[in-house]
Amino acid sequence: MHVLVLGAGQLARMMALAGAPLNIQISAFDVGSGNIVHPLTLHITGHGLNNAIKQADVITAEFEHIPHEILTVCEQSGKFLPSVEAIKAGGDRRLEKALLDEANAKNAQYFVINTREDLDAAITNIGLPMVLKSALGGYDGKGQWRLKEASQAELIWPEMEACIQATPTQAIVAEQFVPFDREVSLVGARAKDGSIAVYPLAENVHINGVLSLSTAIDDPALQEQALSMFASVAARLNYVGVLALEFFDVQGTLLVNEIAPRVHNSGHWTQQGAETCQFENHLRAVCGLPLGSTKLLRPTAMINILGEDNLPEAVMTIEGCHIHWYGKEKRAGRKMGHINVSADYNAQLQRTLCCLAEVLDATTYPALHHFVQALKPTL
Ligand code: AMP
Repeated sequence: MHVLVLGAGQLARMMALAGAPLNIQISAFDVGSGNIVHPLTLHITGHGLNNAIKQADVITAEFEHIPHEILTVCEQSGKFLPSVEAIKAGGDRRLEKALLDEANAKNAQYFVINTREDLDAAITNIGLPMVLKSALGGYDGKGQWRLKEASQAELIWPEMEACIQATPTQAIVAEQFVPFDREVSLVGARAKDGSIAVYPLAENVHINGVLSLSTAIDDPALQEQALSMFASVAARLNYVGVLALEFFDVQGTLLVNEIAPRVHNSGHWTQQGAETCQFENHLRAVCGLPLGSTKLLRPTAMINILGEDNLPEAVMTIEGCHIHWYGKEKRAGRKMGHINVSADYNAQLQRTLCCLAEVLDATTYPALHHFVQALKPTL
């Protein structure tokens, strides 16, 4: 099987690593340059999309901000999965919100803003405080504003207006501020026959809007709520592949924050912690193969490596730590790799995270240090 992935980042890379044992080959389409590249070496193996589409058995995507003309060509080939509709919903908060409402998935009340008058109407309709997010192109907390008092509207409007005007069809989605206790996500796969296999929920800690730490958790009541919303969103899209739903946990009730129609950063822990990792399950689904078990093998956490291309060698000596570099050039804040930490039982995982915090600094790994600080009284 030959799978063409739209996007040539770490997700395509990890799909290639997971696909090799199944004889599934991956080519990556670098949307920026228009080149076809090897997903591990990034060496150019071809130019232009049309040839690559012909050679591929299946086409999929590793991100949702893909120009629509590219999606159209891929859709016309009849080989694209999950679907253009799913990718567009992941890349446009207006479509995403409408999809969630249609699928009866609880989410924060919202209002679409195109003009200064709309901003006032949003304040009247959904109240303050609110979070304002660009409808297109926003990810990892980028393109967002917070509004606590109506008097601040005058101050932030020029920035919002510039954002709207910079991109055709751009708008701002105002959302009720959700006083959540924590953020969790459900990553799962849906096969061509409609069968579903989901992983245990992950609890996610974001720093400045970027995922820093994910831990697989065992919470049957939350898992059931999450699964029900996952199933209805996936069924509504007739989805094939791995899909991630990010939630706010508000006193035991889940509200969907956003969806990602692809393998997801909060599912990287599955490489060491689950029977079949999310990358393999995505490939299985889009290639029409049976899904693999999503069973938790060992308690596992994932720590993102942001803006660093080096780790103390001591990390490699800590039992249960697995390093995954993405082979990217160092840039401030950039996702450069991650560390999966596994153990036989939860207390051992906590101890291993404490050992890791001794060799990783608090400035680069704040979520790890917060986690360890919170544990101290119990250890
Ligand atoms: P997003 O890009 O939508 O995932 O937002 C980035 C982060 O901002 C989320 O992970 C939350 O921590 C926070 N956030 C987003 N939307 C809301 C909301 N409606 N209420 C409170 N916090 C939010």
